Amino acid sequence: MLQISQAMSSQLNLNDLLKLILENAVDLLGGQAGLIVMRQDNDTLAPAASFGLPRNAVPLFEPLWKDIPPDNPEAIPDISLRLALASRATGVSLRQVVALPLSIEAQNRGYIFVFRARGSASFTVNDNQVLRAFANQAAIAVHNAYLYRQVTMERERLHAIIENSGDGVMIINPFRIIKTWNTTLSNLTGISAAEAIGSPCYDVLNLKNKQGDSVCHTQCPVFNPPANGQLYAEGYYERRDGVKIAFANNYAPQIDENNEASQYIANLRDVTRLREADDLKETLLAVISHELKTPVSIIKGYAGTLAREDANWDRQTLHDGLHVIEEEADRLNTLISNFLEASRLQAGTLKLHLSEVYLPELFQRAVNTLQATTNQHRFELHFPPRFPSIPGDYERLTEVVTNLLNNAIKYSPDGGVVKAGGEVLQKVIRVYLSDEGIGIPTSEHERIFERFHRVDNGLTRKAPGTGLGLFLVKAVIEAHDGLVWVDSKPGEGSTFWIELPVNNE
Ligand code: ADP
Repeated sequence: MLQISQAMSSQLNLNDLLKLILENAVDLLGGQAGLIVMRQDNDTLAPAASFGLPRNAVPLFEPLWKDIPPDNPEAIPDISLRLALASRATGVSLRQVVALPLSIEAQNRGYIFVFRARGSASFTVNDNQVLRAFANQAAIAVHNAYLYRQVTMERERLHAIIENSGDGVMIINPFRIIKTWNTTLSNLTGISAAEAIGSPCYDVLNLKNKQGDSVCHTQCPVFNPPANGQLYAEGYYERRDGVKIAFANNYAPQIDENNEASQYIANLRDVTRLREADDLKETLLAVISHELKTPVSIIKGYAGTLAREDANWDRQTLHDGLHVIEEEADRLNTLISNFLEASRLQAGTLKLHLSEVYLPELFQRAVNTLQATTNQHRFELHFPPRFPSIPGDYERLTEVVTNLLNNAIKYSPDGGVVKAGGEVLQKVIRVYLSDEGIGIPTSEHERIFERFHRVDNGLTRKAPGTGLGLFLVKAVIEAHDGLVWVDSKPGEGSTFWIELPVNNE
């Protein structure tokens, strides 16, 4: 009995345990076959293990457990008649059935049925005690195996929830040491769970604010819980590849029996897109208010002055004033089209109307138009003879060249030569446009093509602009499967390069 109960209590796998119990019960009672039924979640009983019975015979014994009154689990119905029938049907000769209830804390969990081939003499008092002790041990072992299975399942469920969460999930102890780090977080940060676990979260994922100060070191909500009790932090993490990610973190403390937080489950949401959209909105508002207000106030000023009833303007003054109004209205129009264009490009809907474009002619026309706006700058075009036409959108490419020429003028306040030309490479043509202006620091060479990005220097601050021109240039060139980049150093002028395919296959 001791051996059996030891074997039973060390078995945590429920199926193996039921088998063990059944084999021992049949053995103890000198039976031929056995069956265990277990109580299900909906309180009904169902077979869970069998011994010595053909599997398809098991349903025939259903009346055994079907009619047990739930309020009196010890009352097993007399089914000897059915047993005889089942015996005949299955070819297993069974005469007597002994039922042992598996109960724990007055709760019935199921039954062990042991079938005997011949009705032997009834059990002695001692036999009954042994059987009862066995049934109790078996019930405890089953209970433990159930609990173990539940805990295991619960742990797996939790693991699956954490792993499959769309957000980053990290669990830290009260000393802020990382205990769990899910795959989403590894993917977002490029830091593997093996690297993160065991280290303090403020080292592994040191979040910074926009000014570059560490949020983790000064405003950690776990370390310094705020008065409002909201455990929330937000900050930027710079990955090893230089990409910045904005995180919004919520921390849920897990409280132990001493009313203290035993660990914190941190939910880390990637809000980079949201923050970018916020920044963009702010920039857009600033740009709109700055850039749109200037022409509007000039137009209003001129219109108001020209409309004064007490003044009698001569034709020349009227003409000049109206010319300014027209120019400023054109500027407004360009600005608005640029804004619309930029937001349309965002949605990825740039459509090209392709035709054969002969760039030397396109450049010449753009230069002719712009030459009228400056007498400080000289333009030179150096295209080789027999320069090929390329498939392109004439209007869009004119926009590109006009934008680049405009910049060359705008950012060369002391004038100089603006040169453009091209060469033919294997499958592409390469075009350059250079100026002798203020130049662009290397660190800005990529960023100037971003939407609204302007280099922070004295001249840019003074020169009108929205930071959209080069963004549009890049979008148009890329829509042509081309490339655009810049070579420049501060004080040494800038050269913009464009490469476009000769054939659009
Ligand atoms: P905008 O001229 O309206 O500011 P762009 O997108 O055309 O916007 O240019 C982005 C930034 O790149 C400019 O603000 C300027 O700082 C810089 N830039 C562009 N072209 C030149 C150039 N030819 N020389 C120097 N800086 C330039």
